[in-house]
Amino acid sequence: IEARVTHVVDTEELDPQEYALTKDYAVQHGFRAQLNAPMLQEGRAIGCICLRRRNPGAFTSRQIELLETFAAQAVIAIQNVHLFTELREALEYQTATSEVLKVMSRSTFDLGPVLQTVIETAARLCKAEMGGVFQLEDDGAFHWKAGHALDPRYQEHERETPHYPGEDTLVGRVALRGAPVSELDALNDPAYGPRDMAEIGQVRSMLGVPMLRDGRLFGVMCLARTRVEAFSTKQVEAMTVFADQAVIAIENVRLINEIRDKSHQLEVASQHKSQFLANMSHELRTPLNAIIGYTEMMADGLYGDVPEKAQGVLERVQANGRHLLGLINDVLDLSKIEAGQLVLAMEEYSVADMVGTVLSATESLARAKNLRLGSDVPAGLPTGTGDARRLTQVLLNLVGNAIKFTDQGSVEVRAAQVDGRFELSVVDTGFGIAPEDQAKIFEEFQQVDNTSTRKKGGTGLGLSISRRIVELHGGRITVESEVGKGSIFKVVVPVNASPIKEAAQ
Ligand code: ADP
Repeated sequence: IEARVTHVVDTEELDPQEYALTKDYAVQHGFRAQLNAPMLQEGRAIGCICLRRRNPGAFTSRQIELLETFAAQAVIAIQNVHLFTELREALEYQTATSEVLKVMSRSTFDLGPVLQTVIETAARLCKAEMGGVFQLEDDGAFHWKAGHALDPRYQEHERETPHYPGEDTLVGRVALRGAPVSELDALNDPAYGPRDMAEIGQVRSMLGVPMLRDGRLFGVMCLARTRVEAFSTKQVEAMTVFADQAVIAIENVRLINEIRDKSHQLEVASQHKSQFLANMSHELRTPLNAIIGYTEMMADGLYGDVPEKAQGVLERVQANGRHLLGLINDVLDLSKIEAGQLVLAMEEYSVADMVGTVLSATESLARAKNLRLGSDVPAGLPTGTGDARRLTQVLLNLVGNAIKFTDQGSVEVRAAQVDGRFELSVVDTGFGIAPEDQAKIFEEFQQVDNTSTRKKGGTGLGLSISRRIVELHGGRITVESEVGKGSIFKVVVPVNASPIKEAAQ
């Protein structure tokens, strides 16, 4: 109480009233002198070291000091042990938690091993020999999902017996209360129903905690010991954490399976769509070609003279027919690419020839708009390997766009070879594309939303097809542009391309 050293030189000289007990004690144990030093922690005595002598006599001040030092050291030792134990426990809990997390991240598709690890880790950490995870199913009962018992008969029983909320089992009680339940001794608790099973399973002390998601009961996790020893508050807390982890694991698996199913359905739907488009485009092209062909023959006077008024109409039919055909071809290309049916026909090609073909095909368009059309292709470029027809289609599209979206100035095609790759650029002095639109235009049916662009017609498919074709070659297509100044579309493809199986989406 006084937190100080007491020193008795001779017990026989002590006041018999005040120290009756000590005097009795001294006679009983045969001592005459004693020295007591308190073990002080923050001014409070947590213990005491006592020395006793058979004969009366004073302890020296050195001895008193020494005992005080020993008492202080004893306190430090006790504190160290406490700290150490706490640390070790914290570490154990941490290791256990990270073990569970590791298993969770490894086997996301398979719930069994995850739950098994959770319950085994929980059992080991909480010093229980048995454990089980029970999950609530549609029938309103809790079913055994993972765990282990000592006796196979007990394990079999748990595996096969559904538990209902409110029944006189641990799972039943936890399910009813939605809170942790401790059973001190299942074998000797008259309120515990399956005592015969507890006997077979050697089950004594038990702990059950609810598995909750958004406050809703989801399952129950149980531990059992073969001895009677109540679970500590710390162990109940740890078990609650493990129950949370089990819930997360179950949720993860459910979500992943759902996503997997959904994406499979989407894939199938998308394949059907592409197949449908491919078929439809084919069915549309044949009659359309006939319409264009016959109109052309009529316009050419093959079926007799055409009145001037009708001539204009026929030309419009033809122009519209061509536009429609272009659109159908684009859709067909795109759906082929999406269905993975667009196979590159690899061959050797010359960049100079390719650029030449593109320029001669677009020359009249440029001339009609009074634009300078030119190229800068250095001599001595190596022969490339790739689908020449498809790459020409890409360049044609880029040059066609450049002419379409440029009202004055020039359009130029440049070629270069850098580190085993061709860089083909189409440079124009046209409207340019705002930064926020630059990524969008490579998507299907995307056009820059301003009237001057819209007026130029087109479908918004050209660039997305071009991008897929370039990507199938293992290359990239990019744009740099400034509104009002012009654009540079750059295609980079390996000189010797080998086809990529699937177009990057
Ligand atoms: P389309 O030309 O049929 O509309 P594209 O996919 O080829 O389809 O082009 C998409 C859009 O990108 C065009 O509508 C236009 O808004 C923009 N664009 C493409 N090339 C240029 C260019 N050289 N200059 C300005 N805008 C361009």
